[in-house]
Amino acid sequence: MDFELLKNCKLCPVECGADRTKGAGACGVSSPRIAKYYLHPFEEPCISFSKGSGTVFFTGCNLQCVFCQNYELSRAKRGKEVNAEELIRIFQDLETAGADNISLVTASHLVPYLVEAFKLYRPKIPVVWNSSGYEKVSTLQLIDPYVDIYLPDLKFYSPTLSKRYTGREDYFEVASKALLFMAKKPLRQTAEGKLLSGIVVRHLVMPLGVSDSKTLLRWLKTHMPETAKISLMSQYTPYGESDKYPELTRKVTAREYEAVLKEAFALGFEDRLFAQDRSSSGENYIPTWDF
Ligand code: SF4
Repeated sequence: MDFELLKNCKLCPVECGADRTKGAGACGVSSPRIAKYYLHPFEEPCISFSKGSGTVFFTGCNLQCVFCQNYELSRAKRGKEVNAEELIRIFQDLETAGADNISLVTASHLVPYLVEAFKLYRPKIPVVWNSSGYEKVSTLQLIDPYVDIYLPDLKFYSPTLSKRYTGREDYFEVASKALLFMAKKPLRQTAEGKLLSGIVVRHLVMPLGVSDSKTLLRWLKTHMPETAKISLMSQYTPYGESDKYPELTRKVTAREYEAVLKEAFALGFEDRLFAQDRSSSGENYIPTWDF
């Protein structure tokens, strides 16, 4: 493994410079820990497809969203340590269980460790990179040879909003560059609609966020290829520290979500759009953690 990358860590846009051979950086972990792995049935249909997406939830995150639905992992650092051999065993367990792919959730702070594992073992099913979008292109280039499908968030356009909710004013500036890189992955899918390669961009509609969502959709229309799929999520649920932000203490209304959907249709996304039932919001849809 390339320990040099970890000694003065600048793997992510936070560039905190921690020596992760000695301890954790601002993302909260020095080395991989996981809180759960299982066949996830509720991702987009092209991802969960038939038996489910073999989802691996990693501990720690470089983006500290105040409303994070995986708060126990991203902030409270829940999870058990795993080395390369244990990670490989997890990939193999998921393949044996019939997973349609291996989905790595929020792992950009762990890229050197994942490259080490993939050099030893390449899953025979597609690998999904499920991320916040707040990533450096130079780090994505290291993991790109092992990734088939990009599943990034695109959270905020407004620097004011991203600063308020994540502490990062440059979220869009960074994420937009990351998405332009990810969008180079060619689209491949089976006749039945299972995604084998490509990009699905997720956007979570926020309370009072309609205007920002519409701006992001217009950016996606202009800058993403026609092969990019768009997933508009309505599942925002007050969680984590959201009670400190009055506007975040409620779910997204039907009117807000429909206004964003209407814009997506007006922009011509309907053939490559995943919409979400508003009943998907609620803590019942947050996984229970195993470790
Ligand atoms: S990946 Fe973690 S340790 Fe490295 S720069 Fe980002 S926050 Fe700091």
